[in-house]
Amino acid sequence: KIDPLTGIANRRYFDEIFLKEINRASYEKNQLSLLLIDIDFFKKYNDYYGHVSGDNCLKMVVEAITKELKRPMDLLARFGGEEFIVLLPNTGKTSAEVIGNKIVNSVSSLKIPHCTSSICPYITVSIGITTIIHPEICSSTNFIDQADKALYIAKKNGRNRAIVFS
Ligand code: GH3
Ligand code: MG
Ligand code: MG
Repeated sequence: KIDPLTGIANRRYFDEIFLKEINRASYEKNQLSLLLIDIDFFKKYNDYYGHVSGDNCLKMVVEAITKELKRPMDLLARFGGEEFIVLLPNTGKTSAEVIGNKIVNSVSSLKIPHCTSSICPYITVSIGITTIIHPEICSSTNFIDQADKALYIAKKNGRNRAIVFS
């Protein structure tokens, strides 16, 4: 259930909780938001600084993300590689966007040197955000797909930013 490198939830545990939270949100008629976070130019970081530094960087980024999650039900998981996913139960679009922007700033404020990044001398992240207002008619894959589309736009629009799916 735990990702050994970062100590946060792994993908399998996330999937389990995700289904439960979709059911709960649908039953309680609550909104549910999702953040898909991807480190910018991380392949270049590994190539230049090495894999051990890359692993340390992942741990620091996780700490910066965790700092911005205040509610006990918020769930951060390693989605795979240098991608993380955050589930925010009972959270609407506006709050999710505020948290997304805070995470973007929190990571860039770490000032982890990244001299081969094309956009910033430090490590940054891009984030795709989506909110389901009617969880009863939205599948988990649909939901992740929306966050992924927003993430793609965040990358295309210059990275180091959070974009809400619309
Ligand atoms: P983009 O800005 O478009 O996201 O580019 P990127 O280089 O971050 O994306 P890409 O998917 O090409 O590369 C991801 C890299 O993340 C590949 C691999 O070197 C690195 N990576 C994935 N998992 C780990 C890990 O557990 N440890 C380390 N050190 N590096 C990892
Ligand atoms: Mg990636
Ligand atoms: Mg990346």
